[in-house]
Amino acid sequence: MRVVVTGGAGFLGSHLCETLIRRGDEVVCLDNFLTGTPANVAHLMEEPGFQLIRSDVTDFVHVGGKVDLVLHFASPASPIDYLKLPIETLKVGSIGTLHALGLARDKGARIILASTSEVYGDPKVHPQPETYWGHVNPVGPRGVYDEAKRYAEALTLAYRNTHQVDTGIVRIFNTFGPRMRPNDGRAIPNFIRQSLAGEPVTVAGDGSQTRSICYVDDLVEAILRMADGEHQGPINIGNPHEISMLDLARKVISLTESSSEIVLIDRPVDDPTVRQPDTTLAREILKWEPKVDMDEGLARTIAWFREVHPWSAP
Ligand code: NAD
Ligand code: UDP
Repeated sequence: MRVVVTGGAGFLGSHLCETLIRRGDEVVCLDNFLTGTPANVAHLMEEPGFQLIRSDVTDFVHVGGKVDLVLHFASPASPIDYLKLPIETLKVGSIGTLHALGLARDKGARIILASTSEVYGDPKVHPQPETYWGHVNPVGPRGVYDEAKRYAEALTLAYRNTHQVDTGIVRIFNTFGPRMRPNDGRAIPNFIRQSLAGEPVTVAGDGSQTRSICYVDDLVEAILRMADGEHQGPINIGNPHEISMLDLARKVISLTESSSEIVLIDRPVDDPTVRQPDTTLAREILKWEPKVDMDEGLARTIAWFREVHPWSAP
């Protein structure tokens, strides 16, 4: 297969590119390096099947030759990124998605849209099944991301119904692993960086808010099953293992054997109180469930941070 990965130099995109190359596919990685970096795919540059093209998918997208599959992953994803880049985030979710869908239509390719658990907002139904419509504040600070993704889902459906494009939507829940930027502001890289540097570990609010965290290798497996199948989704992809942010901070401190203390900081506006995927559909349709447990995933991520970031050497 020849696969176009938008946002392929980002955290999730780079893992997808790597797995696709390893299984023998050709990959065209499109990225404007807004929140990603060529360093994430530097190890693939010598592979004959791999091509990296600096390209902003909100401009015209052109890929020569045949394309069998488009994985549309371009978008800032960390709250501090999309709060800093509100217009870029709205543009990539709307115009960028329009272009990715246009490419898939033109090439007769299947396209997978990376949507998000954020379409459920601060959910009033717990855990969240795909049938839940969500509880989103369009004019709150997170609206730029949540609404861009909700619009992207609607546009994807419109291309499916109007132009018969083979589309699939995955709603990704919090995923972590190597290649997250230590300063991207998300809880796991923050907690690891702070613990390894012996700095205070910043827990928002009283830390009782929960997330359900999935290791990146499991996520990649689910995305490729979705890509190789025919289902239109949306399908939740995530690890149902739910943990409070206070317990997560304590866990990271313990796994890093850090002497860091926990400090409580202000809770961001509209920060979801709970989040947990109902993964019934993923189990039934993709025959998928996560295999890497939280401690193992965190240990692998901590090992990577230690290896790559000198400030975190023991
Ligand atoms: P990331 O910031 O590491 O990767 C996003 C990539 O998209 C970056 O390389 C960035 O440079 C690129 N990009 C942004 N705008 C672009 C544009 N206009 N043109 C070309 N490239 C552009 O984030 P990530 O965590 O890897 O997330 C990837 C995708 O998965 C996003 O669409 C995100 O919404 C979705 N997602 C991620 C998570 C998660 O937990 N990591 C959860 C839900 C959804
Ligand atoms: N969070 C925290 N300390 C930090 C960064 C984040 O307690 O240093 C909290 C944040 O308020 C949220 C949870 O951790 O309740 C997950 O935040 P993240 O940014 O990782 O992901 P998202 O909010 O998008 O799920």
